[in-house]
Amino acid sequence: MPTAQEILKQYFGYDSFRPGQDELVQAILSGRDTLGIMPTGAGKSICYQVPALALPGLTLVISPLISLMKDQVGALNEAGVPAACINSALSFEEMRDALYFAGRGEYKLLYVAPERLTAPFFLDFARRVPISMVTVDEAHCISQWGQDFRPSYLKILDFLASLPQRPLVSAFTATATAEVRDDIIRALGLEDPFVITTGFDRPNLYFAVEKPSSKPSALLAHLLQRRDKSGIVYCSTRKTVEEVCDMLLSRGLPATRYHAGLDPEERLANQDDFLYDRKTIMVATNAFGMGIDKSNVSFVIHYNMPKNMESYYQEAGRAGRDGEAADCILLYNGQDVRTAEFLIEHSHENDDDSIDEKTRRALIERDMERLRQMTSYATTTDCLRRYILNYFGEKAPVCCGHCGNCDTNFEEVDATMDARKILSCVYRLDERRLHFGKTVVAAVLTGSKIEQIGRFSLHTLSTYGIMSEQTAVRVRQLIDVLLERGLLTADPERYNALFLTKTGNALMRGRGELHIRLPREKKPETVRRT
Ligand code: ADP
Ligand code: ZN
Repeated sequence: MPTAQEILKQYFGYDSFRPGQDELVQAILSGRDTLGIMPTGAGKSICYQVPALALPGLTLVISPLISLMKDQVGALNEAGVPAACINSALSFEEMRDALYFAGRGEYKLLYVAPERLTAPFFLDFARRVPISMVTVDEAHCISQWGQDFRPSYLKILDFLASLPQRPLVSAFTATATAEVRDDIIRALGLEDPFVITTGFDRPNLYFAVEKPSSKPSALLAHLLQRRDKSGIVYCSTRKTVEEVCDMLLSRGLPATRYHAGLDPEERLANQDDFLYDRKTIMVATNAFGMGIDKSNVSFVIHYNMPKNMESYYQEAGRAGRDGEAADCILLYNGQDVRTAEFLIEHSHENDDDSIDEKTRRALIERDMERLRQMTSYATTTDCLRRYILNYFGEKAPVCCGHCGNCDTNFEEVDATMDARKILSCVYRLDERRLHFGKTVVAAVLTGSKIEQIGRFSLHTLSTYGIMSEQTAVRVRQLIDVLLERGLLTADPERYNALFLTKTGNALMRGRGELHIRLPREKKPETVRRT
């Protein structure tokens, strides 16, 4: 039996899994239901294709798009993986043949549109063949709160229930707010699933937010600095696209434009001008970009703030596809919030006649909440990358060192002495067989008087109050950094109680130094600058 690693190499030609891929593969192979939340391009398919090859029976892949299915099956066949698909574009004979061969166990993967699942001929087939796993691609389609709800996805649960044996279920999606994630788990009946969000980080992208007094001048300045580079300027309305494009042209910049109000020939011509580098600046609404794969986009400037983080990250993410350094800059002002509020208030009006007023209000409220999160991104002083990754549910360091906020709101400090104090405190607590999370440890160090101090006589520790000149918030930030750097670990089974690691012990005993970036403080005298 080849290992997952060997399958990856043999069929797909890759030497190693990307972060998150191997966790998902291992979870599936250990027999767990899984939910993988990964952005487009992060490599979701590998996560179920590799297990499909390792599992004994057939894997059914439920996929909403015929074009996507065809691409996948074509690529698999080329790699020597026996796979086929069942969809409405097939003739009766093709469908019959595919099921015949699948029934004889000749395929490892069978792609199927959700509408087919409950067709009698398909149910009949599915009850006869051993199905090891059902994989649901674009799983957010099952949620009424998702962007593209597909009622036929709701049939998946019935389908699973009608099988003689419940197969493993794995689900994948590129977008999932907490609501949508819970919907997926519930509506697919995932049992104690392994859930992971991964692959959202794009290390080569530099993020920045600016609040210029004049957006036109700020934009011009950016473009003049990047004269030989190609990039996109996103605006929220067609009118703004026109104004901005005209302004750039009047300054002699090689700009073109794209929005839904142009006639199709002009749209196509402008798009081609940009794709083939005849024009290096594309000024566009969010209508531009779907399905466009230009690798050398080296900046994306948002002239207006989008309505939510999903849109922002998708649009900004069109920069740097080639892996080269690229910039994602948001030009923000308060007017953007009011424009977005206005657009949201008037949205969902002619979506669908079946939407009643109550549902419409709920959708608007959901969009307003997303707008608030977008506005927080535009106004936060914390690390922007951390904000993005946390928004999508991924863990991230306190400071990435490669965004506008880390550059201006964080500073490099020599934290060696502070780290030694914290590590000693954890060490002294451990000597008394006491283990606490970061709140209590920070309280001991700052000499605070919270309840646990008296109860456990923590004021008698030699480390009590040795960081009393610092705030508890600051000490907790430092503890976070020590956790990130592996100098401490937190035990999730024991309320995240802190423990010293080997390297933590070494630093405590005077070996090595610790230089870190931390948010700039209001009281600079509490921080030793390097
Ligand atoms: P998604 O379905 O998440 O949009 P894909 O599965 O199409 O992404 O993968 C995106 C690209 O990444 C593909 O070109 C794929 O071959 C490549 N890829 C996936 N996993 C790996 C890996 N472990 N090593 C190298 N390349 C990978
Ligand atoms: Zn940062």
